[in-house]
Amino acid sequence: MAHPTSEKHSVKICHVCRSARFYYLFSISDHRVVRCDDCGLVFLNPQPSNAELGRIYSADYFLGSESEAGRQAVSDLKQATARFYLSEIQRYYGGRKGQLLEVGCGDGDFLVSAEAAGWQITGIEYSEAACEKARQRLKHGTVRSGELQAAKLPAAQFDLCVLSDVIEHVRSPLDFLREIHRVLKPGGALFIATPASDSWSARLMRQKWMEFKPEHLTYFDRQNLQTALFNSGFSEIIVQPGWKILNFDYIKLHFQRFPVSLVTPVLNLLAHLLPRQTQFKQRRIVASGMMVFARKSELHPQAVLSVIVPAFNEVKTFSALMDTLLRKELPALQIEIIVVESNSTDGTREAVLKYRDHARVKLILEEQPRGKGHAVRAGLKAATGDYILIQDADLEYDLEDYDGLLEPLVAGRAAFVLGSRHGGRNVWKMRQFTGQHGLSLFVNFGHWFFTTLINVLFFQRLRDPFTMFKVFRRDCLYALEFECDRFDFDFELLIKLLRKGYQPIELPVNYRSRSFKEGKKVRMFRDPLTWLKALTRLRCAKIDPMNVVEQSFAANQAEKTKG
Ligand SMILES: [Zn+2]
Repeated sequence: MAHPTSEKHSVKICHVCRSARFYYLFSISDHRVVRCDDCGLVFLNPQPSNAELGRIYSADYFLGSESEAGRQAVSDLKQATARFYLSEIQRYYGGRKGQLLEVGCGDGDFLVSAEAAGWQITGIEYSEAACEKARQRLKHGTVRSGELQAAKLPAAQFDLCVLSDVIEHVRSPLDFLREIHRVLKPGGALFIATPASDSWSARLMRQKWMEFKPEHLTYFDRQNLQTALFNSGFSEIIVQPGWKILNFDYIKLHFQRFPVSLVTPVLNLLAHLLPRQTQFKQRRIVASGMMVFARKSELHPQAVLSVIVPAFNEVKTFSALMDTLLRKELPALQIEIIVVESNSTDGTREAVLKYRDHARVKLILEEQPRGKGHAVRAGLKAATGDYILIQDADLEYDLEDYDGLLEPLVAGRAAFVLGSRHGGRNVWKMRQFTGQHGLSLFVNFGHWFFTTLINVLFFQRLRDPFTMFKVFRRDCLYALEFECDRFDFDFELLIKLLRKGYQPIELPVNYRSRSFKEGKKVRMFRDPLTWLKALTRLRCAKIDPMNVVEQSFAANQAEKTKG
């Protein structure tokens, strides 16, 4: 749709989740900043007109300084940041080099570094003046002026696409990401650097955050950028803090150009006090941004839910559960059922084997029981769906809840959902075991104690972290390693997802608790101790997905050399 150049663009639905529910936050100069109620995306609405943006992106937008020496200093910093980005990309993508596309390449600081590192490069840049400068600096690469969609690049051409401080500028980020998806080769990688509206500087400075500018049309956070990527066909996503190489002088000049009360005067004062050498020393700083790595995945014609059913000595309920599960239909989702049976002694294995020829059922038969955690982990490894749900082989939970729990995932509003047994209006719906009042009290106290402990240790406000109903995108598991075998796996899964940065939403579910007589497998005194130990260990454990990816390349390499 062609807009007259002077007309502001009004946004009718959220760029990420297509919700129409957004509310006004505040204004920057005369631009309204709104927030999506469903996915938390912050964006300008209406967006500035083409004429306004044209004035902002005038010829000196990329210069950053008036003097040649100043421009050189800025270029040095940008190239240092580019080399850092390239080394992080190598950790994620391995040592291979191929075709690289940078959209919004400015006057080519990243491209120069990428070319030197061995990539064959293509740049696209909106400003013709910046394009010309970039062309002069490159040996072989091509730089095209204009916008990505207008360039009409051939499909499946690039191994890597780089968007450094770009996605916040485009009018329609999802269309933009889909175009990137189209031009990437299968398995091609995407690197994004962009401001994060949940970064420390954004939390601290709020409306005065330095990233709020009329030309920044969209402000992602770690959750909704991942959702945006997932919705446009990317997976294996890793989010890291957005390091940049800067020096004091650059930061001071930035805040002189875009003054912020308190910050600008303090920096000006420091400029008089600090020795000159210190002011120009390069430092790695994480301020307002995030770095995101993702890979192109194939878009499924229909999304798939993998339901993992660990079954051990559950003969009384297993078949009833399976039959309900097989009858279950979900709009817009296929169901794949993965049963992990751990050599039960009560006939569960025979009951499980009856489903072996069913097209939608995969059986994993363990030779010996090694704990529920071990069984679930085996199931997770075999799962191929877009979403994962873990279903105990008893009838404590209601399968009718699937629809509600999956809705925010399928609608692209969330990555991780917990079904809360104690939420909603019925706050007193705790565990009640008939005729066992003391036991109820003890178990409820334990629930309260461990919930509080998790909330304190991991900065959460969860009501029911121990629910069986943990539903999430399978991609959330990427580059996480699990080792717990028993009931402590429930903790491990939850906490590693939290620590990787996923913020669960909690929705109320139906629930009927089993008493111990009916076969509850938690051992009263031993398990709480295991849980305490597990929690302490998980609080201290190092969660470093990028390192896991890097190690897997190293392992593959070692394997090849050996073979
Ligand atoms: Zn939204």
